[in-house]
Amino acid sequence: MSAYSSIKEYQQFLAFNNDGCRTTVQYYLNNIANNKQLNAFLEVYETEALQRAAELDAERMAGKPLGKLHGVVFALKDVICYKGHQVSASSKILEGFTSIYNATAVEKLLAEGAIIIGRNNCDEFAMGSSNENSAFGAVKNAIDESRVPGGSSGGSAVAVQADLCMVSLGSDTGGSVRQPADFCGVVGMKPSYGRISRYGLIAYASSFDQIGIFSKNIDDTAIVLEVISGSDDFDSTVSVKPVPEYSNEVVVSDKKYRFAYFKEVLEHDGLDKEIAEKTKEYIASLQAQGHIVEAVDFSLLPYIVPTYYILTTAEASSNLSRFDGVKFGYRAKLAKNDDLTALYKKSRSEGFGKEVQRRILLGTFVLSSGYFDAYFTKAQQVRRLLCNTTDDLFKNYDALISPTVPTTAFKIGEKSDDPIEMYLADIYTVYANLVGVPAISIPLFKHSNGLPFGLQIMVNHFEETKLLNISKQLLEGFKNSNLKG
Ligand code: GLN
Repeated sequence: MSAYSSIKEYQQFLAFNNDGCRTTVQYYLNNIANNKQLNAFLEVYETEALQRAAELDAERMAGKPLGKLHGVVFALKDVICYKGHQVSASSKILEGFTSIYNATAVEKLLAEGAIIIGRNNCDEFAMGSSNENSAFGAVKNAIDESRVPGGSSGGSAVAVQADLCMVSLGSDTGGSVRQPADFCGVVGMKPSYGRISRYGLIAYASSFDQIGIFSKNIDDTAIVLEVISGSDDFDSTVSVKPVPEYSNEVVVSDKKYRFAYFKEVLEHDGLDKEIAEKTKEYIASLQAQGHIVEAVDFSLLPYIVPTYYILTTAEASSNLSRFDGVKFGYRAKLAKNDDLTALYKKSRSEGFGKEVQRRILLGTFVLSSGYFDAYFTKAQQVRRLLCNTTDDLFKNYDALISPTVPTTAFKIGEKSDDPIEMYLADIYTVYANLVGVPAISIPLFKHSNGLPFGLQIMVNHFEETKLLNISKQLLEGFKNSNLKG
């Protein structure tokens, strides 16, 4: 049971409730306290959130103009900087580190009246697909606590899934918003690369990273995207393209679209049989409704996960070099004769977890002079081919659809000893980050094992309005469909 079905409904409630923000924050605080075992939050800003709620209630009562996100209760993945608050990327190496500025996205949320209730657990430095790589313990899926919520933004997905906040922000480098959204049965969207500023987002792989949004419906995603998108003097990779009024442009329609799907994706060995079947049935139902849905060859499928892991580990090895025991957070205790190199080595060995160390080593290897051309350059070439494929594809189609993940949420511990198998869980999501297009996972299906799974939709660069419109239409249509499991 959720407190509100949408931000709009909540704001209508506030119009008639003098202490509406306070009672709402209290509602979420109670839910968080009653669901501690999920481990979705690393910190809850109880006193502060209540105080901000009281201030917002007072402003409303005084008839002041209200922000677009007036009173909306958010949680932030622990890689997004919030001034005066700790941020740790769920890593021991950032122990005790406090943000000295706000991420641009946070600044924009606050300017529109949002309330931030806490920071969410995640995989260390956003590296993972199960949220088991956090230095602060795994997050549990609220539908079945023996299962993972997905990762790396697992805590943020569960926060929305279990009604611990209204909306949350995560980050998506290779699927970390869409994959946990799929496992938790919520909406998870990653916009185009360059739509939202990365200023104040702790970098994992800078040419892939984007902030993404978890919500319960498309209208909420639209209004939050509208607020946090746009150019920023602090991030030169953000687009200067004007930000559409997504919240007004997203409407229910019965427009017919041209969808493509990659044949190899639905025939892939690792894809759960039932997910494949239900997706195919769904494709047939879209065709029956008058949409065009066509199979397209995609011979590059086997290369996308290796390409992703070569490029992102290379970027990560560079980005994470700043965590050296000197500038931030954790510093190892030194023995008498230890020199500066020993300080770096010990601090990094003790501060970083196993998966982060694995990726730094991999990234350093693929960038080393003897192997650079064989790995890094090759991977860049594959990335170019993928971009060409995408350009061609969107000349003929509005959108590309696929399952979001090949399986439903797996058991905690099931894949944690096998990194390759874990990496393959990203096979359908990394594509959008490699080519920089917007992508969403919408919670359409239910598996016979009782778990939810989603449909992923991708569109061309900066076509978020179309992406949200398609998503809204498909979600609405599905409510009345006999495919609903
Ligand atoms: N699972 C992917 C990885 O481990 C994606 C992570 C992300 O999107 N931050 O790299």
